Amino acid sequence: MPRPLFATIHIDSMQHNLAQARTCAPLAKIWAVVKADAYGHGLERALRGFASADGLALVELESAIRLRQLGWIKPILLLEGFFEAADVPLLAEHNIATAVHSIEQVKLLEYTQLYRPIDVYLKMNTGMNRLGFPPAEYAAAYQRLRAIRDVRSITHMTHFANADELEHPRLTIAEQVRRFQLGAADLAGERSLSNSGGVLHQAELADQLSNDWVRPGIMLYGGTPGGRSAQDFGLRPTMTLRSEVIGIQHIGPGDTVGYGSRFEAEGPMTIGVVACGYADGYPRSAPHGTPVIVDGVRTTLVGRVSMDMMTVDLTPIPNVRIGSKVTLWGDGLPIDEVAQAAGTIGYELMCALAPRVRVTEG
Ligand code: PLP
Repeated sequence: MPRPLFATIHIDSMQHNLAQARTCAPLAKIWAVVKADAYGHGLERALRGFASADGLALVELESAIRLRQLGWIKPILLLEGFFEAADVPLLAEHNIATAVHSIEQVKLLEYTQLYRPIDVYLKMNTGMNRLGFPPAEYAAAYQRLRAIRDVRSITHMTHFANADELEHPRLTIAEQVRRFQLGAADLAGERSLSNSGGVLHQAELADQLSNDWVRPGIMLYGGTPGGRSAQDFGLRPTMTLRSEVIGIQHIGPGDTVGYGSRFEAEGPMTIGVVACGYADGYPRSAPHGTPVIVDGVRTTLVGRVSMDMMTVDLTPIPNVRIGSKVTLWGDGLPIDEVAQAAGTIGYELMCALAPRVRVTEG
């Protein structure tokens, strides 16, 4: 018998969340972001969950080609662009649009005879200071791309640093949009600005944002980039991680639990050992008090998470037994809540799900 630990992917919830994104940004075309194996959900499942998206965006060229092999015929976008000359003919061959964020990439496109057209997303750095041309150099890069015969279209693109926090004290969306508009002024082409944060706040930002294409990721997987909860936005969890109680210990005052004996009982307690640890992708940083659900009752983690197991407080749970069902995140327990307790973000938990965890659908 395999360990009783499995992640269930809810394809219907992926479809629902995509519909929510459409409701938020009804005029925009949607790139469903499926990088990192669709945030840990699997590319094939993303194909079904996001079948009605207008395009799929990711960063791995080999996965983009796989999407074509799996039958995806709508647009595909590489969000970080390409990395070497040999990648460029593959973009043309598989009709994969690419971000262009550096002059080195512009030169590679200039030097490569493509024979087939490609679509380019020209990226401007409006304050994130990760990828992209500074606004002052943007128009020159655009003109060079325009002069390349095989570049069929150029879409203007930037990325928000703080889309979850509209009034960020250091860098606001409004300021990034202002720089973007300045840098791309009078340049023809569609525009793509918003990630999930931008999409979720589309209504408040309507007067600032003109999005031909939006690029939601985390919201499609039932998480948010921060701020208000996924439930507030009508999003549903798309990944539920479940396990079982595989051991029970009865302890008394002064007894400790787990490595480092970090947790000490103040009174009599029942401790449950759950088959899930950091080698499964559960964060070792999760402290005492991180929520879990056992047999439908909310309780908490106690002691340190170990490689294959964790320990939880079963004291408040009636009739608990070996085999009692445990939800670690997902249905009934928002992943963002677990992530926050562990000092991380839902994105990281989804992406860190280990290969040894069995994945089912339901
Ligand atoms: N667009 C770009 C360029 C990204 O790098 C990402 C992810 O980091 C996204 C969109 C999707 O972001 P989110 O998952 O916050 O919606």
